Amino acid sequence: SRHLVWLRADLRSIDNTALSEACRDPEAEVAALWLVTPEQWRRHGKAGCQLDLELRTLRELSVTLEALNIPLLIREVPDFAAIPALLLSLCQAEGIDRVYWNKQYEWNERVRDKAAADLLRANGITVEMHADQCIIGPGEVLTGDGRFYSVYTPFKRNWLSQIYERGVRVHPAPLKRQSAWTRPDPVPTSVPGFESHVPLPELERLWPGGESAALARLEVFTDKHARRYRELRDFPALSEATSGLSPYLAIGAISSRQCWQAAANELAAYGPSADIDHWVSELGWREFYKHILVGFPRVNKHRPFRLETEQLRWNDDEEAFQRWCDGKTGFPIVDAAMRQLRATGWMHNRLRMIAAMFLTKDLFIDWRKGERFFMQHLVDGDLAANNGGWQWSASTGNDAAPYFRIFNPKLQSERFDPEGNFLRRYLPELAGLDNKRIHAPHEKQRDFLLDYPLPMVDHRAACEETVSRFKALGELP
Ligand code: FAD
Repeated sequence: SRHLVWLRADLRSIDNTALSEACRDPEAEVAALWLVTPEQWRRHGKAGCQLDLELRTLRELSVTLEALNIPLLIREVPDFAAIPALLLSLCQAEGIDRVYWNKQYEWNERVRDKAAADLLRANGITVEMHADQCIIGPGEVLTGDGRFYSVYTPFKRNWLSQIYERGVRVHPAPLKRQSAWTRPDPVPTSVPGFESHVPLPELERLWPGGESAALARLEVFTDKHARRYRELRDFPALSEATSGLSPYLAIGAISSRQCWQAAANELAAYGPSADIDHWVSELGWREFYKHILVGFPRVNKHRPFRLETEQLRWNDDEEAFQRWCDGKTGFPIVDAAMRQLRATGWMHNRLRMIAAMFLTKDLFIDWRKGERFFMQHLVDGDLAANNGGWQWSASTGNDAAPYFRIFNPKLQSERFDPEGNFLRRYLPELAGLDNKRIHAPHEKQRDFLLDYPLPMVDHRAACEETVSRFKALGELP
């Protein structure tokens, strides 16, 4: 029999549930498929830098799979709506009788998968969809009365206890097939319309492609840095204090089970560590936001979790939005953050919160505009985490920051970049300032010698205005 594995956000050979299942029958001939869907990607705001990482990862994967006699096929259709028909004609032309994929949890992806499965099954083709993206998948971590959690701490307690109860199993790479029925297609080097905003040599240096690079990064992190995670994770100048695995998790070059296992091995070998527990808890946040997508579908559809916040009248100020995008707000920590995103395709978690809060609370600009801008520039862009992070920062989400607790950019900067090392890296125009002045260069009086803008808003006044607008929503449940 002939099996097809449709790869999406799972670009790896090791611990890929659908791939393992497709290869379970040693007699079966197996091929893999990856689809280019430019029109759909445009609608989703997919970043060119992320696509480039995917293409480089696929190039390695294609070679790995070819050695196992699993050719990787590449096809192009404009959007998700065209996929069911394409899959059916491919199966009919090649005599494929079983199709396998790993579930995705975003709304459009789920609609697409249901349509594809329905059409294939109606034509006598077996479809297997596997839960693979999470250690414990959405729908399996529920409250006592069977509902989705909306608060992280009780979710995490339940999630961890289920993990310990069931154990975590990492699938090895599949065994070599006896033969391949066709040749792999060349993996494209680029797709028109999805150019990376980060220069390619820099992108490749920062984010080398392939599951081998992802596994190497996991090993270095757990060996050398994980035991200081809690202490150092909030300092953006320390680029190795966090794992930097988010781009690989987002495209599936590595699985969360592999991350879990590396952490568990480290704990087993060298004893308990609150730092490693904390890192595992971040993997939990990743899963929590995927559960939220499934449990509360409105967040997939540009709607806030807290529906009463739909009444907020966000400022429609294109010029202010552009200054934020360009890193020219006059608040160094916000500007350095935005320039890190532009220069590397990634932004430190503390800075994502600071930049997102500044856009939504200081400028009172709609979180959805920031969410889309991030998506278009992030190498780790992921709907669940990005939407979750934005709604947390905007106080429109579940378990979000309370609307009256607004980050003060200068205090955040002094606390998390005390020596200004991060600021100097991305704001060379401020490099000559001392460690005190660099956080608010024009605070005492305007410095005409600096080629750096004045703060575009008065932070305190802006916060008062924002708090009063949220308060006017009335009693929040
Ligand atoms: P580590 O600290 O090493 O954490 C390990 C892994 O846990 C990460 O790779 C990531 O997969 C997961 N993780 C960590 N923190 C979070 C979190 N708060 N929410 C969900 N998962 C988390 N993360 C994305 O992967 N894609 C996004 O598009 C994204 N957008 C964000 C937008 C905003 C406004 C905010 C506040 C956060 C966003 N995050 C996003 C979460 C977080 O900032 C990144 O996952 C983290 O900075 C990645 O760095 P790391 O791999 O070194 O993380």
